[in-house]
Amino acid sequence: MSISKNSVASIYTTEKFIEEYTYTGEDLGAVWSKDSTTFKVWAPTAEKVQVALYGSGTAGTDDLTKKIDMTKGEKGVWSVTVDGDLNGTYYTYFVTNNGEEAEACDPYARTTGVNGNRAMVIDLASTNPEDWSDDVSPNKDMKYTDAVLYELHVRDFSIDESSGVSDAHRGKFLAFTEKGTKTAGGAVTGIDYLKELGVTHVHLLPSYDYGSVDESRLDEPQFNWGYDPVNYNVPEGSYSTDPFHGEVRVKEMKQMVKALHDSGINVVMDVVYNHVYDADTFCFNKIVPGYFSRQKPDGTYSNGSYCGNDTASERAMVQKYIVDSIFYWADEYHIDGFRFDLVGLLDTETINKLVEKVHEKYPDVIFYGEGWDLPTAVEEGNYLAIQKNADKTPDFAYFSDDIRDLIAGKNGENTGFVSGADGCEDEIGACFMAQTPWCPKPDQTVNYVSCHDNYTLMDKLRITRPDAPQAELIRMNKLAAAVYMLSQGIPFIHAGEEFLRIKEDENGKIVENSFDSSDYVNRLRWYQLEDPIYAEVLEYYKGLIQFRKNHAALRLTTAEEVTSNVRYQKVTDGVVLFEINGNVSGETSNGIVIIFNASAKNQKISLSDAGVAAGEWNICINGQQAGTEILETVAEDMVMAAPISAMALVRG
Ligand code: CA
Repeated sequence: MSISKNSVASIYTTEKFIEEYTYTGEDLGAVWSKDSTTFKVWAPTAEKVQVALYGSGTAGTDDLTKKIDMTKGEKGVWSVTVDGDLNGTYYTYFVTNNGEEAEACDPYARTTGVNGNRAMVIDLASTNPEDWSDDVSPNKDMKYTDAVLYELHVRDFSIDESSGVSDAHRGKFLAFTEKGTKTAGGAVTGIDYLKELGVTHVHLLPSYDYGSVDESRLDEPQFNWGYDPVNYNVPEGSYSTDPFHGEVRVKEMKQMVKALHDSGINVVMDVVYNHVYDADTFCFNKIVPGYFSRQKPDGTYSNGSYCGNDTASERAMVQKYIVDSIFYWADEYHIDGFRFDLVGLLDTETINKLVEKVHEKYPDVIFYGEGWDLPTAVEEGNYLAIQKNADKTPDFAYFSDDIRDLIAGKNGENTGFVSGADGCEDEIGACFMAQTPWCPKPDQTVNYVSCHDNYTLMDKLRITRPDAPQAELIRMNKLAAAVYMLSQGIPFIHAGEEFLRIKEDENGKIVENSFDSSDYVNRLRWYQLEDPIYAEVLEYYKGLIQFRKNHAALRLTTAEEVTSNVRYQKVTDGVVLFEINGNVSGETSNGIVIIFNASAKNQKISLSDAGVAAGEWNICINGQQAGTEILETVAEDMVMAAPISAMALVRG
């Protein structure tokens, strides 16, 4: 059978095609052993497939050593076994469809040479760090709501000189393996910093092989977020110390994971299955024309992602590919969680299958994503993984744009609850209780106020409240953090938010979309931690995290638990109060009262008027400080909440 790209949608989704060509084996790719390597590639529409072996991983180098015919077998899978130890051998496939020959990388490549053009046969066991077989999740048995997520870009983490990371490792995976790093003035940085911060999961922006950074000229500064996938099962070469030798990126990424695990921190990978860098040159589409990407009836690519193409996750072998890929990262790299970019373009069946497959072996792995509702040409009969379908993906959480927009304001010039907007109380109440209209239960909402997209929190606050002095902006920032950190759900911190991160260029211009901006804009400015103003905000975040970890009542998992144990009360304009029962499973206190005062004035609040029974209260969070230490004990009915501040009272 031969197929041209424009006719595919109808043929690929016929029952006949699905029945004849759905392969379920676990052996696609190059499976290495000391004596031989077996290559298998799914190419049901091809007339001819060959594997080409090369001396190097650099495309365009004239070092072809062998071109071997492959044989078509069951379900459209072509295979050949090549004798000898092929570890380190680079290869591609030559696939002929409809008389046209194309050279493609292996969609199941375990690693590649520079820029991901040629795959490499690899003995994966030889890439394992010491004690890798003993490496397990450091936060075993943790529920989704026990997680405190920290979203970080590999390069931002260490590229600034003030990170104290060695020159050779700055901007690389290996930066995470350096302990004892400090700024010139002695502020703790790097992995030690992450450990002291207390987050449970570091969520890394795309770290698989992406296309927008040229790995062949890393001597020049280049930056990209990396939402442009090229090889889904290969670490990004620019984060390795040597992108030309395929084993190096694999080894170094594993070393990073091991170092984080050894520091008690889990690793989440940001994965971008919803689109590819370039649909026409994506290897899967070269091998099976147009199969990986959705087409509109006119034959053009569906573009709900606004990146040129959408992935046809509903097609059987794309679904299998995504499931296999996620399981591979969990199994081979010990990845503890996955954040799905624009997951609203993928179908719920694929999501449930991959969650189920990973959870069978690794029950602690967490899954969440951007469930935005985007226009896409999905085949009929599929549900998409969007917020309003959350009840169809019970083990998958979604970012809450509701809480984000409420706390600091929607995009642009709008203010939010902490920055002076009126009338937010009841919606803040609903968000605090994980009762946004789409959210079935607290372990399905990721609560945050800023992330890599859009303005940083401090930039957003200073843009929307240009009148406010720095001290007031900091109060807003702290209150914002307290709102999402104490809410029911899964809290998520944008790296650097905890020390007033800004994205400003050399001319002082604030950058909103920094996906390809310079290191100057994107770096974490570690040196700022030497300034007591910044260090105090950091301490506040640490305290909020500790307080959350200390109170199981803040980490409920079902809607029923929340309804029966958490009570919302509007006190007055800009002031909300929550009373949380102490008699929930695992809770160490006798109850907690949380007050958010978003008004610009001191608020004297009568606890009895708010329906709270009298007692003795230990204040652990106020406008200045947060933590598990008792700042003050009060027994009065009236408590005073400072302007723009959070307060937590633990019943004594
Ligand atoms: Ca790359």
